[in-house]
Amino acid sequence: MSNALSDAHVHALTTRIEADETLTITPMAVETDRGLVLVDVGPAGSVGALEVHLEGIGYDLADVWLVVLTHHDADHAGGLAELLDHTDAIVATHREEAPYVRGERDPIKSEGDRYLPVDVDLELADGVRVPTLAGPMVVVETPGHAPGHVSLYFPESEVLLAGDALVADGDVPLEGPKPEYTLDMDRAIESVGDLAALEIDGVVCYHGGYAEAGTERLAELYATLEE
Ligand SMILES: [Zn+2]
Repeated sequence: MSNALSDAHVHALTTRIEADETLTITPMAVETDRGLVLVDVGPAGSVGALEVHLEGIGYDLADVWLVVLTHHDADHAGGLAELLDHTDAIVATHREEAPYVRGERDPIKSEGDRYLPVDVDLELADGVRVPTLAGPMVVVETPGHAPGHVSLYFPESEVLLAGDALVADGDVPLEGPKPEYTLDMDRAIESVGDLAALEIDGVVCYHGGYAEAGTERLAELYATLEE
């Protein structure tokens, strides 16, 4: 890959899922000195594809020691229970997302149709840092798409894993959150503003994958969305 990810120990596990409609998702695997951090999992039934991807980079499911969920939506967290049949990973998400993952509340966007709940071991907050082979991975609170949505930022490589705070599946390299899927658009726009304050050289969106776009594009997006 000839982009900011190429030698960063940060791997995009882009997968096409054939469901009611075709869905392309991008869970991320980040190498650390004790194995892998997985950022988002995928919907129920996607763990087989995940396993194939991990084998491709020399790992298996049992090497995942930490799963970070950007938020609780089923297309990100639905496969987590199945993954945990294969590894003893710690599960981390923002405290506002945890009740949905744990099954104390139904997922906001699929009420009554919930995925298998799992325990959350660690509740994330702004500024939490996880040491990785790509340098620290820093939690950035980016609420709006979901109440406790988080993005992950690598200051050394200036790469941002945006989750669903940004989208890259349109005609332009990087777009703001999609209003039809966003719970609180005003907060989501403020989150884009917060991200635009970081030094960013490349962005990975869960929907759309890697975008060759940085701080300048984010500032431009924020200015447009704010109007
Ligand atoms: Zn999503």
